[in-house]
Amino acid sequence: MLPFVAKLLMGGQLNFGKGNLLIFGERVLIIPLDLILILIEKSLKDKKLAQQIYESSKNSVLAFCQSIQKRLNINQKETLDILINLTEMNGYGEIIPIKIDYQNKTAVFHLKGLPSRAFFGKMKVSDYTTVDVYWCGLVAGGISFVFSDDIDCIETRCVVSGKDSCEVVAAKKEFLKKNFPNATKYFK
Ligand SMILES: [Zn+2]
Repeated sequence: MLPFVAKLLMGGQLNFGKGNLLIFGERVLIIPLDLILILIEKSLKDKKLAQQIYESSKNSVLAFCQSIQKRLNINQKETLDILINLTEMNGYGEIIPIKIDYQNKTAVFHLKGLPSRAFFGKMKVSDYTTVDVYWCGLVAGGISFVFSDDIDCIETRCVVSGKDSCEVVAAKKEFLKKNFPNATKYFK
């Protein structure tokens, strides 16, 4: 992560202005961990809100990618690399690409240390509970850009139940709906 931050700074791609923090010319915010935890708790109780959080997370990352690609003139693979680095730099945890299939437009990521880890042991959950709807939206936006297609994501395991990482599967909506009964938690 540090070499990435150094590269950003040296390349003038990380700027601290008057009340502004810019990465690749895009304004970003540092937000408290608790804000994410509140969103998670609320989305667990409200399916409609969960879908809205998913959709808006997806759209925001897609717009971010389109904007930085224009500015940096980079290809999809380089964008994916930047997204992974930004994830780690922003403190979301370590993101490990397990499978990236450009041909079939599917991917699997493992995420270690997402904020929802704070709920482990504090929230009563089953072994199969997944809570990171917002995160699935963020990955869906990024991977839609990388695959140049409308791709969605679901979480198949989560640190909230004590697993060592969350697993996010990316594929076309129809595939996810057919193969994972909980897909409608994220989208219609
Ligand atoms: Zn999770």
